[in-house]
Amino acid sequence: MHSVHVRYYGAITKPIPCEVCALPAHKLILLPADPDTGIENCEQLVRPLQAIGFIGEPASCREGLFYPVGNRFLQLVSFLGCSPMIELDPPANSAGLDAAIADGRFCHVMLACSPALQFRADPQTRPPRCPQCGHADTHWAQRLQEWRGNPAETGWTCAACEQPAPLTRWVFRKTAGFGKVFVEIRGIYPSEAVPGDLLLNTLRSVTGNAWHYIYIKE
Ligand SMILES: [Zn+2]
Repeated sequence: MHSVHVRYYGAITKPIPCEVCALPAHKLILLPADPDTGIENCEQLVRPLQAIGFIGEPASCREGLFYPVGNRFLQLVSFLGCSPMIELDPPANSAGLDAAIADGRFCHVMLACSPALQFRADPQTRPPRCPQCGHADTHWAQRLQEWRGNPAETGWTCAACEQPAPLTRWVFRKTAGFGKVFVEIRGIYPSEAVPGDLLLNTLRSVTGNAWHYIYIKE
């Protein structure tokens, strides 16, 4: 019998056993720069993203729907290394599909939208910095826990400069973020690829404001 792998959801939550015994997936996640930006439902993203060739027709998997990459995916996302080995096709064997989706073995897209603010982070995320003075808040995990217990309370005051700010303005490097809308590209390692202007502008046209991106493993 093999050992149980675990998946991490965010920096401070406890690991939970993965149902399909897959390793965590590396993800490039696109999200609105303004964390309070939400949309009615993920459907609003589908047509515009299909129109530019970023995603194809949705297919079912255990987690719900996933989108195979579209025919212009490699023009819309710039891979930075030379000759990247990118698997774009789902496994031929459908029995292996759920595990391949869970661990990002092939590049595909998942859309996630929620009316409530979510926090997503890589397990290796460093303490966030104050947007005013740059002081790193080493007690951030505890503050996040308090916020999860009372999501309406996003107030935060920097221990160094004593300036108040919402915790959604914490400055992370590209390893964590707050948001309500996430376009998740699975199977991409940190800094391996960046979204191009056409992709970001298409997302901007849906929500009416700028998007940015983070890399996480979860
Ligand atoms: Zn400060």
